[in-house]
Amino acid sequence: MHDIDSRADTPFDPPIISRKGDDPVWKMHKFCWKDAGTWMPQLSAWLAPKFRKDGLRRLNPGGFRDLPWDDPEWLALLGRCLAAGIEYHAETLANALEFSILRTFHGCRTDDAGSYFREGLRLHDRDAMKQRLIAIVDQNDELAGMRTRLDISIAEVDITLDIGRLFVVADDTALLERAAHYLIYGSEWITAVLGRGRHVLLKTGVPTMIEVDLPLSVATPATRIAFARKMLSEWTRRTCNLPDWHAPIDFSFCLHENIPPAWVVGHSHPVQLRDPLERRQLYKSPRTRCAYCGL
Ligand SMILES: [Zn+2]
Repeated sequence: MHDIDSRADTPFDPPIISRKGDDPVWKMHKFCWKDAGTWMPQLSAWLAPKFRKDGLRRLNPGGFRDLPWDDPEWLALLGRCLAAGIEYHAETLANALEFSILRTFHGCRTDDAGSYFREGLRLHDRDAMKQRLIAIVDQNDELAGMRTRLDISIAEVDITLDIGRLFVVADDTALLERAAHYLIYGSEWITAVLGRGRHVLLKTGVPTMIEVDLPLSVATPATRIAFARKMLSEWTRRTCNLPDWHAPIDFSFCLHENIPPAWVVGHSHPVQLRDPLERRQLYKSPRTRCAYCGL
């Protein structure tokens, strides 16, 4: 559609942003952040007609830049090579991604990952969690001291962000590195209410990473734009520095609807985790298979 030689290398009037989700490069395309081969070629093809006349010379693919992976300069560098501003391209890419599908991850502790394959992932229901908490306290005699003051303990924990929400992340690297307590203990709210008594949560279940193929149409436009910026930054770093490792982004999608079973595509049980609630002590799960794996 665009002829590379006919593009002006001068101030540029952006074209009208294309209709959401109608971009053939991305429509129904499945990709995984960690596996750059699933999206770098597509992003290269998508970006190709958007470069200024001397854009590739400015970018200098393969020309190493001594920048941290998360330096904002990567995005700025790409912006200087493209016609129109980088924010325009981030928004256009976000729109194009609307009907693509991203592999995402959700950390939990469960006896049976099969429940996620059968029932999907549910929004945080505080009443249901409270019933689970009461059952845990009733079943564990070492928590007997909590029984009479459970309501007080609940009132003391001010975690409300997750009510009616569900979080998945684009890269499990950061989740495993910094937030493994979701896999070690399960529910963050129950863990917080139990305090030191949280060790009872280690008696059952297996640390589990659930894999979800998330249609990006369920993300908000603002979240898609933020993710598009990560992709453009990482594309630039990879194109220049040719690294053999991916940027470990800490990127969450906050959902307001349940994830249906059809989107749940895999699970795994990490063997060793660093516990952020125990000064990053090494936690080795005694079990690495759930009922769904076959005990
Ligand atoms: Zn399993």
